[in-house]
Amino acid sequence: MRLSALTLRHFRNLGTQELSIPEPGVALVGENAQGKSNLLEAIYYLETLRSFRGARDDQLVAFGEEVFRVVGVMEDTREGAEVEVAAAFQRRGRRKKATVAGEEPERLGDALGHLGAVVFSPADVGLVNDGPGERRRFLDIVLSLNVEGYLPALQRYRHALAQRNAALREHHPRAAVQVWDEPLVRAGACVLAARRCWLGAQQDRFSHYHAGVAGGQTALLEYRPGVPLEGVGDGDEMEAAFREALTGSVERERRNGATAVGPHRDDLRFRLDGEGGVDVRDYGSGGQRRTVALALRLMEAATIRGLRGREPVILLDDVFAELDGPRSERVLEIMEREETGQVILTAPKESDIRLRGDVLPRWRIRAGRIEA
Ligand code: ATP
Ligand code: MG
Repeated sequence: MRLSALTLRHFRNLGTQELSIPEPGVALVGENAQGKSNLLEAIYYLETLRSFRGARDDQLVAFGEEVFRVVGVMEDTREGAEVEVAAAFQRRGRRKKATVAGEEPERLGDALGHLGAVVFSPADVGLVNDGPGERRRFLDIVLSLNVEGYLPALQRYRHALAQRNAALREHHPRAAVQVWDEPLVRAGACVLAARRCWLGAQQDRFSHYHAGVAGGQTALLEYRPGVPLEGVGDGDEMEAAFREALTGSVERERRNGATAVGPHRDDLRFRLDGEGGVDVRDYGSGGQRRTVALALRLMEAATIRGLRGREPVILLDDVFAELDGPRSERVLEIMEREETGQVILTAPKESDIRLRGDVLPRWRIRAGRIEA
């Protein structure tokens, strides 16, 4: 897939613009605070219907406006077929609407993932530095976009968890808590199985990308499930393990007023090989943390390639700003070697454009106005 046209209306500071995006992509150059990241945010909004910077929808509406709208035309590079995806958000009533080929899909989730894009941003280091919630968010986005049935299972899980937590918090009788156990266990086992399966399949790839960027040093990606899963198979076995863990935490849950075990307690660990296997979160340097984050994003791009069978669209938000020369070079080499589709990148200076530097047309942006 590639993005061939983009229409913006009142998205952040971007005003009203119609852009036609060149086949190889584009390099957007502009000073700080001109709207470079805003453009990538608008494009990625079409993929996930949310901000990759974690902003609320109402923050994306231009100051003083009521509604934003983003429309993208996506073209299948092999079959030449086109699909138009549109997203809009209205402040009043916090109404979000998406259409695919002019039709509102039955569920908002069906509008996701049409582009097949990955964003690389300096903020990705939060995947390492921030709390486990950030890492679960990463898993949820990647799996929702790439694994059939994941998002509905996650939604069922969240619903059951919220109900069960409310019952615990309000000290309802145990039976009123327990009615949520089966829905929680069934949906939760699907979520756990999908996360474990994907992460298991990615471990080698993660180490490979990490070593590629770090220039040799490998790192390990470990899944830390919020339910003890050692030696436990998928399906019934996993449900049984989850049920047992719930039974074992009745006292703790009563004390804390919240569900103590489950995929909402999952986490990831990154360990550096050859440095005694130390945790990057505890001991890693800034550059080592960035390297882990890059390996995760490269893994995400490879997943689009592997599971969806298409070249990922790469959105690069000024990523080389904080990486040293050799590491940047190696990331560029990996990106050039892998099959990537369109590349849309931003940089404050022309000289920072090194990926596809000779083929990407330059656009300039100033106070939200893009000039091709
Ligand atoms: P940098 O190089 O510093 O990362 P950038 O070009 O990526 O800069 P953006 O983050 O894309 O900058 O845009 C920041 C600008 O967008 C700020 O001037 C900010 O005031 C403006 N902005 C953010 N949200 C809105 C909004 N809802 N309405 C209007 N303007 C907005
Ligand atoms: Mg920016």
